[in-house]
Amino acid sequence: MQVKDKKAVIDKRILEACTRANRDRKDIHVIAVTKYVSNERTLEAVQAGIQHLGENRIEGLLAKQNVLKEEKQLEWHFIGTLQSRKVKEVIGSVDYIHSLDRISIAKEIEKRSFHTVNCFVQVNVSSEESKHGLSPTEIIPFIEKLREFPKVKVIGLMTMAPNTNDESTLRECFKQLREIRDTIIEMEFSHAPCKELSMGMSNDFEIAIEEGATYIRIGTSLVGEEE
Ligand SMILES: *Cc1c(COP(=O)(O)O)cnc(C)c1O
Repeated sequence: MQVKDKKAVIDKRILEACTRANRDRKDIHVIAVTKYVSNERTLEAVQAGIQHLGENRIEGLLAKQNVLKEEKQLEWHFIGTLQSRKVKEVIGSVDYIHSLDRISIAKEIEKRSFHTVNCFVQVNVSSEESKHGLSPTEIIPFIEKLREFPKVKVIGLMTMAPNTNDESTLRECFKQLREIRDTIIEMEFSHAPCKELSMGMSNDFEIAIEEGATYIRIGTSLVGEEE
């Protein structure tokens, strides 16, 4: 299926989720995760009207940017695990980092970037061993420490839900992320406005929208070659 047809399906599902949750469609940003697909397929996504692109590897990100360098107004999201020694390779090329979960990354951003970087702090809501991200109790102390790094702007929180089809488990995960976010907003940190929620992927984005997602990250069902 062409990306534009897949996008039409996703757009409709987003609208329906917004209607159910009484939310404004404009508050939801769709990031097309292109890590599984070719440069050509990524170009097709942009031609279909995609503006936000996400990659989890530096090589993939730079390759896609190279192909799309004539395209204006694209926003690039780094969604993968970031090693601090790799920060310098991405820092000039991304608009958002979704995987901030260690002070060593903040230190590198501070040292390497010429401007403030929009970051999401990654939370491992379900505290699964296999996942990256901080546990919910670590979040507030971590965000307080980030005050020392003025180039790091915490615009929100990100999570990956557990790999399950159980709707109540998914919903609970997204709801918890929203509640942590609301607590941080109340603390009124100037370096961490923390209004955004990056949550929801191909299998669970509708639940994420119902629970308050503002950035959803969709790979397979938006740009994937097949399903
Ligand atoms: C791959 C990936 C996605 C997209 O996953 P799909 O299930 O293909 O939609 C979203 N977020 C992160 C962090 C990913 O690594």
